[in-house]
Amino acid sequence: MPSPENAADAGLFDAVVNLCKRRGFVFPSAEIYGGIRSTYDYGPLGALLLRNVRDAWWRSMVQQRDDVLPIDAAILTNPKVWEASGHLATFTDPLVDCRSCKERSRADHLEQKDGRPICPHCGSTDLTEARPFNLMFKTFVGPVEDDAAVAYLRPETAQGMFVNFSNVLTSMRRRPPFGIAQIGRSFRNEITPGNFVFRTREFEQMELEFFVPPADSQRWHRYWCDERLAWYQRWGIPSDQLRLRPHDQEELSHYSAGTSDVEFRFPWGWGELEGIANRTDYDLKAHAAASGERLEYFDQATGERYVPHVIEPAAGATRTMMAFLLSAYHEDEVGGEPRTVLRLHPRLAPYQVAVLPLSKKETLAPLARQVAATLRSQLMCDFDDTQSIGRRYRRQDEIGTPYCVTVDFDSLDDNAVTVRDRDTTAQERLPIDALPGELARRLAAS
Ligand code: ATP
Repeated sequence: MPSPENAADAGLFDAVVNLCKRRGFVFPSAEIYGGIRSTYDYGPLGALLLRNVRDAWWRSMVQQRDDVLPIDAAILTNPKVWEASGHLATFTDPLVDCRSCKERSRADHLEQKDGRPICPHCGSTDLTEARPFNLMFKTFVGPVEDDAAVAYLRPETAQGMFVNFSNVLTSMRRRPPFGIAQIGRSFRNEITPGNFVFRTREFEQMELEFFVPPADSQRWHRYWCDERLAWYQRWGIPSDQLRLRPHDQEELSHYSAGTSDVEFRFPWGWGELEGIANRTDYDLKAHAAASGERLEYFDQATGERYVPHVIEPAAGATRTMMAFLLSAYHEDEVGGEPRTVLRLHPRLAPYQVAVLPLSKKETLAPLARQVAATLRSQLMCDFDDTQSIGRRYRRQDEIGTPYCVTVDFDSLDDNAVTVRDRDTTAQERLPIDALPGELARRLAAS
């Protein structure tokens, strides 16, 4: 497993992992039973953040476009899908055994000593030859565990779009260029999961298959590379922590006429957030040959018939969530006091607002609760009336809440509250009536 490049990077990684556990973003799965390696449960704040990551993708990839349609395909499907797609034969990673400590590792991730790969567990160079290990999880459908009942958990969401190409084309009366998008869980029996939620065996993907006339495929590939890189910037990752890296010829998958990865500068170095591949007509042709169905576009008016080419921007929601957390994490000083602040994009933050009554006294509680209830009809709103106001601000800063609303004793007379901005810590008095509209305006403009 790659290790962080320097102490500052290692410190950032540990600080974010620690914050995730302490503040309810990510927990080791089934921790009371000792967990299960590299498997995580998303806690209250993680579930909210992940949902906001999905929503941000969905808004720009589905809602704001007139050429992309969503689907939600089954995780368990006919195993013929995986035969035709090539996953059964080739969805493998090279596996080596260490003869010394018996641990297994992914051969292409090993560091070298004197030109020989070394075991990351014990440092031995006495390793077996690499052999292919299929990453798909196998299971059985129905009560009989025989070969006829074998099925696989999907290792990517993409094939759900290919096998539904004709259904969507016909039922929704589309013509290329158009896309089919989906967000969902995928499963890979990774040999060496790790680096927190960067590589897990169960994860979430956000994928688009964009079907285009063959002659236009390169243009659309460039379009989607630009579009996707801009999406990460738009949602708050600084440009110097992102890059678009084209694959060289040896690295290209067998189906690809060109792939570029959006990469993020993780604490251990550059790592992929999303692959944008020009998959040509490989998948539709493979499924057409295996199923005997015609998977093509036919234009009745012109008599034109062709198999569309496919541009695939394939992103990981859970991995992207980690990148958002790492780039948002900052330690600074406010009024001479150190603070931790997550400078998440306001609409990605788990809570957009927190209502904090200045005192726990019963006189303030009804108004504060009423303000929170009003805000909750539009936003995720936290409520906290414990400890000093300074500590409560720090707690909200640490989870990235962009606005804190303080209800104080003057509020009872002037019907106004103080709104504090997470990043500038500037405070401003606003009439309660204007609050929902003003917060909505600021969030929409963010
Ligand atoms: P890698 O080279 O990191 O194994 P990949 O090239 O196999 O990734 P793709 O098949 O292109 O990944 O999947 C698209 C996206 O899904 C990746 O860019 C990543 O964000 C996410 N993803 C893939 N595998 C995992 C995993 N094991 N854990 C978390 N996210 C993953």
